[in-house]
This record gives sequence, C-alpha cells and structure tokens, in this order.
Amino acid sequence: MGQSVLTPGVARVDGELYVDGVPLARVAAEVGTPAYVYSLARVRAQYRRLETALAAAMPDITHRLHYSVKANSNLAVLRTLQECGAGVDIVSAGELHRAREAGFGGSDIVFSGVGKTAEELRLALEAPVLFVNVESEGELRLLDDVAGALGVTAPVALRINPEVTVENPHAYIRTGEKGHKFGIPYDDVESVARLAHALPHVSLVGLDMHIGSQIATWEPYADALGRIRPLFERLRAAGVDTLRWLDLGGGLGVTYDAEAPADVERFAAGVADAVRGLGVSLVFEPGRFLVAEAGVLLARVLYRKRSGGKEYVITDAGMNDLMRPSHYQAYHRIEPVRAPAGSLIADVVGPVCESGDFLALEREMADVAPGDLLAVHTAGAYGFVMASNYNSRPRPVEVVVDGDRFAVATERERLEDLVRLERAHLQWRSA
Ligand code: PLP
Repeated sequence: MGQSVLTPGVARVDGELYVDGVPLARVAAEVGTPAYVYSLARVRAQYRRLETALAAAMPDITHRLHYSVKANSNLAVLRTLQECGAGVDIVSAGELHRAREAGFGGSDIVFSGVGKTAEELRLALEAPVLFVNVESEGELRLLDDVAGALGVTAPVALRINPEVTVENPHAYIRTGEKGHKFGIPYDDVESVARLAHALPHVSLVGLDMHIGSQIATWEPYADALGRIRPLFERLRAAGVDTLRWLDLGGGLGVTYDAEAPADVERFAAGVADAVRGLGVSLVFEPGRFLVAEAGVLLARVLYRKRSGGKEYVITDAGMNDLMRPSHYQAYHRIEPVRAPAGSLIADVVGPVCESGDFLALEREMADVAPGDLLAVHTAGAYGFVMASNYNSRPRPVEVVVDGDRFAVATERERLEDLVRLERAHLQWRSA
C-alpha cells in the first residue's frame, strides 16, 4: 500500500490515490469536500531529511529547526513537529497561542514579523520567548519600553535585510532585496545594533535574516551570509559581546511541478562553511519545506462547461480555499482520485464570484466528469492558513493521516460559525 512507498505522502495504488494507507475517496465519503488532507509521516520525513543533513554537515555547531507556523498552523501538525524536536517561528499573538496549545514552551519560540504590537511584544516577553526578531528601530525602542514596564530584559535578534538578489517564482515571496519592507536596511544595522547594546531593557543576542520563499539554489543564501558574517564580526569587534545566535530564516523550495527541490545537503554544507569559527548557535525557520508536499486539497467536480471555445472544470474548491494560484500564479498539480482516463485542456475554477478564482489555467489534465474527485497536490503549505470566508463560504475541513488511520484535525466550519461574531441587532454607543 501507499504506506510502504519510500517517501510517504500521496501515491496511486491500484489506480486509486492514497495518502499513505488511506484512500482519498474514503476521506471524501466520510468528511466531504473540499478537504485538506495531510500525511503526518511525510511531515516527519521532511523534518528528518533536513535535520539529518544539518547534523551531518555541522556536528560541531548547535542548531535547531524552528518550524515557521504560518505555513500550516494546524495544531495536529504543530504537535507532530514538536514531537520531532522542532521549535517554532511565530509572527503573531495568534501563532503564539497556537504554539503554546500545541505544547511548545517559551524557549522553543522565536518571534518574527514586521509589525508587532506592544501587546504582542508583552505576551512574547511573558512567555518568555527565546528571542524577538526586531525589524526596525521603532520596534526596538517599543520592546525596550515594554520590557522595562515588565521588569525584564528582552532578548533581541536584529532582522537584517541583506539586500541580495533572490531568484524564486514570484516577487511576493522575495523578502531580502533592497527596498523591501522586511528587516533593517543593511547600512542601518550597525547604528541600530549600537542602540540595542545601549538600551537598558534589551540584550542583543543575535542577527536574523529571511530572504524569501521557494528558493531552490544555494546562491542567495551564500550572498546573504557573505554580507551578514562580516557584520557579525564587526559588531563583536565593537564590543557587542552578547551575540550568540544567527537565525537564517526559511525559504527552502519544494517541487510543485517539475522544478528541482532545494538541495538540502548543499545548503547544510554551505551554511556550515559560512559560519564556521564564528562561535554561534544557528536557528533555521523552514515552513514550506516541512509541510507543502505532505498535503493535498481534495475537491469534487461540480460541473463541466464550454464557453468561448474554452473548457471549464468547475469544482467545489475555490480561491477562498486555496489562494496560491490566483495570488501568486502558483502551479499545483491536479489529478483525479480514481484512475485517470482521456485528456482535456481546461481551466479548473471554483465557485467564487471572481474571474481570478481558479486552481489552474489552460491545464492539460485527465478528462473528468461531474462527481469526480480531484487531488490538488503540494497544498500542505500556505493552503488552509490563507483560506478565507469570501462569498460566505465555510472554510474546509482539515484531516490528518497517520499510517492507515485518519482523523479530523479541524472541523469544517458550519453556517452558524460564519455569523458567530456578528450582530444584526446593534448596541449603539454615543460619544
Ligand atoms: N521565517 C519568516 C520570518 C518568514 O516570513 C517565513 C515565510 O514567509 C518563513 C520563515 C518560512 O518560509 P518558508 O515557508 O519559505 O520556509
């Protein structure tokens, strides 16, 4: 069965698609569609793959994978990674709450993000997190105030924009080029670091970067590390003796179509060479790499239609369920759950009232009919987490598979959930 294939995850067995030992048709019959389905075995395998490469390349360098919660924040997925030994990287009070619910302790957490509020900083310091990745002078000063009010010292890493060229499939997933909103501009880092060293309620414990996502090559990391290492050394030479962490962010790419995935051995060896002798502990923040290939979005074909000489496959999953195709023009492989037959070229679209609501455009795919189930592949990262209720569509169910068992990890939203926080009868207030 699917369970015995070398790489766990989605596989066709006797013509039918399985996630590990569970037929997707059975999941659809029991929980309906659209449904996200995740292989926990694949999540564990991805974690082991990366951690094994890092451990082999840097036996002498302390390091930890801090899974980037934003990629897939389902509690069952978080718990699985916690059991693997991961820490987490969070970007909001909501992700902090999820991490704590999943069993992560404060010191397992690094807190990133370009726009943290005073309340979020307070919650982070109360946890207390391992360190806060600070992205501006304003945030540094606010953190100093918040820490002072709490009577604690805030551990800080400065997120640097290394201002390198990042080659990946879309501008929206590049974050380390000159002029981006993320991080402290490279030329400003030393003055902000001096300020951090001088402020009474923060301790400058590290430097941080995250240059983008779906990166398949080593070069952008090499360029960025080539800029960050000398900065690190200059700061130490200038008397900042508290520096001991280097957070390299996430970004490792996966295969959506035919592209080569990130070469993790090359990455691990490159990082080890780049930081050797620096006397730092490393944090990595992979998101997509750990979960993308573990997940599929299961959808059902509602209708077929021809318009203007074009074929349409209309499914019950739309852009509100999986935003990546419309938002990033991202490619997701789509195939029928039962043995494919025939072929057609079609736009695969959802029910949402937007012309930009599609899962695939002009896609050569198996001939499918209303009622057929479709698997949208590589949907484990930035899938459900970006889902919305647009068009008042309840968000899908999330299912996890472990071996030949499966369980609902997030129930499908119900119609009453859509209005749970709303009021038709208003309680007016006057000034
Ligand atoms: N770290 C930070 C600060 C991020 O913003 C992100 C994603 O945007 C990640 C890590 C994870 O990136 P990826 O999923 O590409 O590994």
